[in-house]
Amino acid sequence: MLQSYLRDAWVSPTAAPDSAIEVRDAITGDVVCRVSNEGLDLAAAFDHARNTGGAYLRDLTFHQRADLLDAVAAAVRESRDDLYALSARAGATLTDARYDVDGGIRVLRDYAARARAELPDAAFLVEGEPERLAKGEDFLGLHLCTPSRGLVLQVNAFNFPVWAPLEKLAQALLAGMPSIVKPATPTAYLTERLVRVIANAGVLPPGALQMVAGSARPALGLLREQDVLSFTGSATTAGVLRTHPAVVARSIRLNAEADSVNAIMLAPDVQPGSRLFAAFVREVTTEMTVKAGQKCTAIRRVLIPREFESAALEAISSELSTVTIGNPASENVRMGAVVSLEQRDEVRRAAWTIAAAGRFVHGSPDKVEVIDADPRRGAFLDTILISADADAGAPHEVEPFGPVASVLAYRDTAHATELLARGRGSLAASLVSDDTPWMTGFLLDAAPWHGRLHILDSVTMTQTTGHGSPLPALKHGGPGRAGGGAEMGGMRGVVDLMQRTALQASPALLATLRS
Ligand code: NAP
Repeated sequence: MLQSYLRDAWVSPTAAPDSAIEVRDAITGDVVCRVSNEGLDLAAAFDHARNTGGAYLRDLTFHQRADLLDAVAAAVRESRDDLYALSARAGATLTDARYDVDGGIRVLRDYAARARAELPDAAFLVEGEPERLAKGEDFLGLHLCTPSRGLVLQVNAFNFPVWAPLEKLAQALLAGMPSIVKPATPTAYLTERLVRVIANAGVLPPGALQMVAGSARPALGLLREQDVLSFTGSATTAGVLRTHPAVVARSIRLNAEADSVNAIMLAPDVQPGSRLFAAFVREVTTEMTVKAGQKCTAIRRVLIPREFESAALEAISSELSTVTIGNPASENVRMGAVVSLEQRDEVRRAAWTIAAAGRFVHGSPDKVEVIDADPRRGAFLDTILISADADAGAPHEVEPFGPVASVLAYRDTAHATELLARGRGSLAASLVSDDTPWMTGFLLDAAPWHGRLHILDSVTMTQTTGHGSPLPALKHGGPGRAGGGAEMGGMRGVVDLMQRTALQASPALLATLRS
């Protein structure tokens, strides 16, 4: 049975093994662990976070909190190989595991360095210069940001079991708030290993980090006015949390990072055969295959000028044909499995739904050739490219959370703009063009529907960090269907977790805060 880390100790649930949820290896189908929250004293854990962890963290300055981030990063780095090996059980290749584990370490380090450079060596933040509020000069106003007296409850998705908790932890620690991490059940064993590494290192104050395995449902009623609910997962679950009675009644701050039908758009100036066209094809195939397409930012819709449709279908299919699928332990495998058989079946259904508005061009939901594994026991999927009617509903509405994308042909600029917006709010979109004046106009129309725009041209293509990579310096989160949330974006992600209070006072009092 998977243990939880509550009140600075590892505890087992009281459930009998046969009443707990079985989590299976994505490659072999063997049971990895069983998960239940039965018998866990969550109320005591919440009190411990607020009263002990919060009290310790609030007493530290931003720079001392930055030291905690570096210490956590060093501990996780020491255990990288162990985390990589365990990630393979969730279907991840070594590249996928590095994306998750090394990505998490990088966010911690980046935030530590930023905090030292951009925040004062103080426990709170005074924003901006004082403003005169009256005729005289003795009544001034400014904004004060102090740590909330609550906790951050992380309710996380299954696809980034290391990066997601670390990215949220980095911002919460700097904001002076303790965290309780609730990993998604299919990969909870990876987050458990991560928390064990951090706990064994003994680098965090008591109560600063706890982890609960099993359902988060009973925990939601324990949330109080100063807490933050930080959710990552599907739009459906986001809706459930947003309307939870405790969240509504106590105005709990909810940050929702939900699903998103992200797009890439090739502009009419990019000729098939050009280097930029090749970079566009690489971007699509990378997004479809890294983590077997299980990235919230992955490209699901590929918008192409009508005249280039067949060239694009051919080029992407040809690139996908080179992708080897199978056991991540095998050297020749480029793409592993999705996380579970249930997830595989959900992706298959999503692919069939989209294909009802078109046809399969590469791959099929029901057939896959794998290396060094049994395709009946492992959650393997072929890479699937669908050519679909751009004006149909499904390609814009259904998120196949796996290695699936649909190609949609647009007529003109207005049509492309309209199609992009039909995702009803996305985390990220890539726009590919060398026509800078055209692109400037286009991106201004596209921007309100997207959390991040990645502009690929003949210059940026040589240095890009890629369509799907959220970066600590930039905001992660999109409008509408994508959840309406915002994380990271440099220090914005930290300050957003704090309470901003407008302060009206004398110059003498404000001077003491600013000294
Ligand atoms: P999910 O089914 O929505 O689950 C996410 C989390 O919510 C899990 O920890 C889950 O716990 C919990 N949960 C589910 N139902 C709940 C309820 N009624 N009350 C309280 N908690 C509940 O999502 P997933 O399948 O893990 O992840 C895949 C989805 O996440 C995809 O749609 C993807 O696009 C999205 N995602 C978005 C981002 C982003 O940054 N925007 C990042 C990654 C993934 P249990 O597992 O215990 O049920």
